[in-house]
Amino acid sequence: MTTHEYEFLTTETVADYVRSRPVLSGRVDPDHLVRVDEIGDGNLNLVFVLEDGRGRRLVLKQALPYVRMVGAGWPMTPERARREADSLRTHRALAGELVVETIEYDPQQYVIAMEDLSDHAVWRHALNRGERHDGAAAALGRYVAAVAFGTSVLGMERDAAAQALARSVNPDLCTITEDLVFTEPSVDAGRNEVLAANEPDAKALAADETFVAAMGVAKWKFMTQAEALIHGDLHTGSVFVRAAESSTECDSVKVFDSEFAFYGPVAFDLGATFANYVFAAARAYAQGDDDRAEWALSLPGQTWDAFAAEFRARFEGVRDGRVWGQAFRETLLDRWLRETWLFAAAKMARRIVGAAKVKDVETLPEALREGAARGVLLAAREAASAWDAPHRPEDFAALAGALLREHRTS
Ligand code: ADP
Ligand code: MG
Repeated sequence: MTTHEYEFLTTETVADYVRSRPVLSGRVDPDHLVRVDEIGDGNLNLVFVLEDGRGRRLVLKQALPYVRMVGAGWPMTPERARREADSLRTHRALAGELVVETIEYDPQQYVIAMEDLSDHAVWRHALNRGERHDGAAAALGRYVAAVAFGTSVLGMERDAAAQALARSVNPDLCTITEDLVFTEPSVDAGRNEVLAANEPDAKALAADETFVAAMGVAKWKFMTQAEALIHGDLHTGSVFVRAAESSTECDSVKVFDSEFAFYGPVAFDLGATFANYVFAAARAYAQGDDDRAEWALSLPGQTWDAFAAEFRARFEGVRDGRVWGQAFRETLLDRWLRETWLFAAAKMARRIVGAAKVKDVETLPEALREGAARGVLLAAREAASAWDAPHRPEDFAALAGALLREHRTS
């Protein structure tokens, strides 16, 4: 099935692995490990955390030649690990502390060694526990802006940008997105599933010609608009957050898990954040916590405002100011905001009807989940039909909030 022959790490073999690599044995002592755990909860890869007697820790993430969630029956190139390591390094060079540190990449065994972030929480987990982390949404906006400017021809020398684009071509992973995010929510390939009570909602989505046409536009943009080296999977499960005790203000925000990175539309990453804020709001409304839902619905505006401010600031250093002036800058921002709605619509729909669901909605009791899922699907349809009109970022939250409140069940 696969031409990739390499050893998969296990909790038994990771110490030897570290011992054989000087850079890693300088970070954690392989002869005095007090903890070796496999902690991966993702759909794709193995993740190990190691700790030595001095409390020093290291994380190893290994790509398997197939999708972990499904097994050997769904092969997938482990070369995705190189894309992840490359993009993490590129993004960290531009956005600094907002991106996890890559310590070493091993192209033989497809292992990324990185700093341990166990003192952070995966943002989705924190949201699902009802915790607030302020500042994370704005940090994500700044991160996307740094990447949008710094990896595009706006901020890069022309030949370097062409080489970076060529190096990041990632058709295997992009095909997954094209199928799961843009096609399958409305054209079931046998992987979709919803509660019986939501079957009419899924059918109405599939029958919504405006929605399907918008997904065609979204898919086309995704496949052709090679604007910047985007993250490609910027949901709240790809972000670590940390706040000092007794504070809700983040003192650290770190983006990770960028194996879907490729040269694509900037707004795809923004749309992913918007959609995930809606999932958090849907959960909070379903649980009757309207304050927290309103807080979650303030996040799209925070991400957008920080994105736009950071992008405008970076644009001062644009490489070709002869034709790319302020008017062009504002044209880009206007188009990106519209496209953010479009991509958010796709992301909202796929996480409700498609194969890889989100815990925010999925762990709600069925009686509550029904209304939350319905509200999100209706928000997806409305955002898809309105995407190409002029709007303000807060309009998106208003649209989603109204539908979530109207359709919640108990
Ligand atoms: P996948 O690509 O399989 O989704 P992720 O990169 O999302 O893998 O990692 C899976 C899980 O492993 C994360 O949700 C997180 O709990 C844990 N993890 C990943 N990287 C780190 C890290 N640097 N420090 C601590 N935990 C991590
Ligand atoms: Mg992941």
